[in-house]
Amino acid sequence: MNAFQIIKIGTKFLKENKISSPILDSEILLSKTLNKTREQILINLEQKIDKKKVLIYKKYLQRRSKNEPLAYILEEKEFWSNKFYVNKNTLIPRPETELLVEKLLKIYKGKKISILDIGTGSGCIIISLLINLKKSVGFGVDISKNAILIAKKNRTKYGLFNRIKFITKSFEKIFNKKFDLIVSNPPYIEKKDIKNLCDDIKRYEPRMALDGGKDGLDLIKKVIYKSKSILKIKGVLALEIGNEQFKKVSKILIDNNFRVKHFIKDYKNNVRCVLANLE
Ligand code: GLN
Repeated sequence: MNAFQIIKIGTKFLKENKISSPILDSEILLSKTLNKTREQILINLEQKIDKKKVLIYKKYLQRRSKNEPLAYILEEKEFWSNKFYVNKNTLIPRPETELLVEKLLKIYKGKKISILDIGTGSGCIIISLLINLKKSVGFGVDISKNAILIAKKNRTKYGLFNRIKFITKSFEKIFNKKFDLIVSNPPYIEKKDIKNLCDDIKRYEPRMALDGGKDGLDLIKKVIYKSKSILKIKGVLALEIGNEQFKKVSKILIDNNFRVKHFIKDYKNNVRCVLANLE
C-alpha cells in the first residue's frame, strides 16, 4: 500500500467513527507513524508503506477512533510556538492560555522577576514565560506527581534546569516565599457541566485539571486567598478563568484587596484571563 491509499483508509475509518477532522487526523497520524512531517508525506503520496508501519498506523487510528485526543497519541502539543510533551496526566495546552502568556511577556519584557505557576501541568505556561524572560526565575507546583514528571521533561527540553523548580506540592503549602508574579490556569469548569464536554476532553483529560467544583470557582478562590500572602508588594496575579466567571472573580479579587488591572477576551469574546494587583 502507498501513503495515498493508507490515508484514504484512515480517513474513512475515522469518519465512520464520527471524528470531526478525519482527513487531517489520518495524515497527522501517518506522519507520526513514519516520523516525517505532514508536508513530507503529502509531496510523496506514492511512497510504499511497509507492513510493520501499517500495523502501527492502525493502532493509532484505533485510539483516535475512540476519541483519544491527537495530542496524547502524538505525545506532544504546540504552545506559543514550542512543542511540549504531554500525556494523559497533563491537560493539553490550549490556545486561550497563549493569550495570557502573550500579555505577560509584553508586560515583563526584559525584566527580572520571580514567577510561581500554580497547577503547572505540562509546565507550558512557566516554560514559555521563562524561555522569553531570560533574567527571570520560576517555581511550578502541581499536586499530580505524574504531571510534574512531564513538566520536568519539558524543562530539560528547553534547557531551563537552572531557572525553574518543579515540585509536587499543593500551592496551599507554600510558605516563606514571595513572588512578583503568580500565574494559574486552575480547573474552573462547573462540576455539572463536565458531562457536556466533548468526549475527547471528558473521557481523556485529567478530571482534576478540569473540575472547579460546584460553581467552578473552588480553586480560583483558593488561589486568590493564598496569593495574598505569597505575592510581593505590587505583585501581579494572572488567572485564566471560565466563561461568565469574570464578574464573580472580580468580586472575589476586590474582596481580597486586589485591583483588576487587565482582562483579556478570547477568540469567542469571553473574558478568559484576568490580571490583578494587590492594592
Ligand atoms: N498550566 C497547565 C496549562 O495551562 C495546566 C492547567 C491545568 O491543569 N488546569 O495547560
